[in-house]
Amino acid sequence: MLRVLVSSAIALLVAGAAMLAYTNRYALDRAEQNASAHTNFIARTIVRDRLRKADFERPVTGRRRAILDRLFSSEVLVDGAIRVKLYRPDGHVTYSNAHDLIDTRPIEQTVESVARTGQPATDVTHLNDEGGKGPNTKALETYAPVYLQGKRVGVMEIYQDYGPVAAAAASSVWPVAAVLGVVLFVLYVSLFPLLRRVTRRLRRQVEEIEHQAMHDSLTGLPNRVLFRDRLEQALYGARRSPGEVAVMFLDLDRFKEVNDTLGHESGDILLREVGQRLAHSLRAGDSVARLGGDEFAVLALGLDDADGALVVARKLRQAVEWPFTLRGLTLEVEASIGIAMFPDHGTDVDTLLRHADVAMYQSKEAHSGAGIYSPERDVYSPDRLKLLGELRRAIEQGELVLHYQPKISLRTSEVIGFEALVRWQHPEQGLLGPERFLPFAEHTGLIKPLTRYVMREAVRSCARWLEMGLDLGVAVNLSGRDLLDLHLPDEVRLLLSETGIEPGRLELEITENIILSDPVRTRTILGRLKDLGVRLAIDDFGSGYSSLGYLKRLPLDVLKIDKSFVMSMMADDDSAAIVRSTIDLAHNLGLEVVAEGVATEHISAVLAALHCDAAQGFYYSAPMADSEVAGWAAEINLLRAAALEQLSA
Ligand code: C2E
Ligand code: MG
Ligand code: MG
Repeated sequence: MLRVLVSSAIALLVAGAAMLAYTNRYALDRAEQNASAHTNFIARTIVRDRLRKADFERPVTGRRRAILDRLFSSEVLVDGAIRVKLYRPDGHVTYSNAHDLIDTRPIEQTVESVARTGQPATDVTHLNDEGGKGPNTKALETYAPVYLQGKRVGVMEIYQDYGPVAAAAASSVWPVAAVLGVVLFVLYVSLFPLLRRVTRRLRRQVEEIEHQAMHDSLTGLPNRVLFRDRLEQALYGARRSPGEVAVMFLDLDRFKEVNDTLGHESGDILLREVGQRLAHSLRAGDSVARLGGDEFAVLALGLDDADGALVVARKLRQAVEWPFTLRGLTLEVEASIGIAMFPDHGTDVDTLLRHADVAMYQSKEAHSGAGIYSPERDVYSPDRLKLLGELRRAIEQGELVLHYQPKISLRTSEVIGFEALVRWQHPEQGLLGPERFLPFAEHTGLIKPLTRYVMREAVRSCARWLEMGLDLGVAVNLSGRDLLDLHLPDEVRLLLSETGIEPGRLELEITENIILSDPVRTRTILGRLKDLGVRLAIDDFGSGYSSLGYLKRLPLDVLKIDKSFVMSMMADDDSAAIVRSTIDLAHNLGLEVVAEGVATEHISAVLAALHCDAAQGFYYSAPMADSEVAGWAAEINLLRAAALEQLSA
């Protein structure tokens, strides 16, 4: 504002000065014109009758000079006129009241031009510039042509004292200057409050814009930009003075349900309230920000260790989990929190934020509420990412191998088929189990080529067993993503026709949890697979939440009881009851039942007594390499034949 005031003052002053200078110049011009007209008038009237042609031909001397002296001093040299000169047309001075100038010839050309054109002229000079004595007064020269009997005979020049001319001009300028000054001053003063109002409004707007750029409009909390900035500052401080810094990601569990069932307005109210509660449960100096959706971030400073961060996280969760009242409804919300510590889990803003985010997902998956980042469980950690790149190559180069675990009929004790289980023959790390690479193959879409590879290998193996005279089926596990792939049924059909395998020999296993993620699409694809004649099995039954009622609507053939129940059924009555009732219910639904994880002869016998159809487990065999399958199956069949012989004997 000061700058605007100063610059507008300068502008007004310059404008005022310019206007004054112009007015002054104008007044001077007018005064000069007046003086010139006056001289012209004198030349044409007063002196003309008294001058002779000879006065303009040669220097005037003696008596004539005295006569002219008298004439000029009485008629012309009054009212500020201080000198007079007569010139010959060629510029030669023939008379002057300053006698020493007579018979001289000033260098200027004005006289000749006036004599030639008959136009009067004016100029400003100093009295002594052309010689002469006495004070060197500033003077206004006015030239006028002199006519005698109609003929131009010479030029008369009159010098006016410039002082009175300038004073007259100035006196006409002063009132203008005064009025101008008052007007400009009033203008300036009225500008002041206006300017103040405008600058105040501008400043408020700028502050508002800055606030909006740095804050979340819904909750008023800092946004991601400001949060990053504060985190950066905190890291800068933490590098110089000890004390741990924790970055937390907080995500509301099931917030989407609130939004969907109660409407967005209620969702907004909830988010605002959550924001306030989080802010109130932090110490001064800590920050909470809303990153978008139902995600919040917290920056906690000056902690002793990671346990301190867990204490803060617990406080935050308690604050969020205290029931909300929304339009008369009581609502409970839970939050998952992920924590990343500086410097253990990252030394820069991006790494810490990413790891806190990963930790949040880890605790969400584990339903643990809050957890500290653990690199071992980070699917996106550098080690994992390296493995991911290698997995891509492994699928292409056939580093994946299949091991087969036999499935035994509990009625006939025959080997009825094998389940294909994938492993990775890693060039450096050795044989890796599926739990090492399947989770991130599923996360990244690599699962599709992986499943295709496994299916192809498994069906080809089955074809080879048939050629060897072994009447066996093969089971392949599918992932969630596979069941969203609308091309899968066609590919299976193609594979079966290529290898000539009857569809009924191929069994596809689906874990129950994945069916629930998109039931409509899943049912479509399962229906088309079923139409091909492929057998469908539900895997790990009991580990998820699906009900038999729901499964009834799916075109299933087989139910595989999860190994956790089978393995504990001898020690735990509940497990035994679950196994027993699952077998009965499945039979009522027309499903064949397979028990997984059978580890002892005793369990095998109990399951047979419960009319379980088939079993799988380490008691019969651990998964084996393809090359061992034929030998193993032949041996089992021999053993079985021997046993049957013994029985009949
Ligand atoms: P699953 O389909 O339930 O496979 C059975 C798992 O239980 C196998 O583990 C097997 O080695 C193990 N198992 C068998 N008998 C016993 C026993 O008596 N006791 C114990 N403790 N374990 C037993 P594996 O090979 O590590 O496979 C783990 C899971 O990985 C599989 O569970 C399956 O869900 C998945 N998986 C394996 N191969 C593939 C595949 O090619 N594609 C897909 N999508 N998933 C696969
Ligand atoms: Mg399976
Ligand atoms: Mg299983």
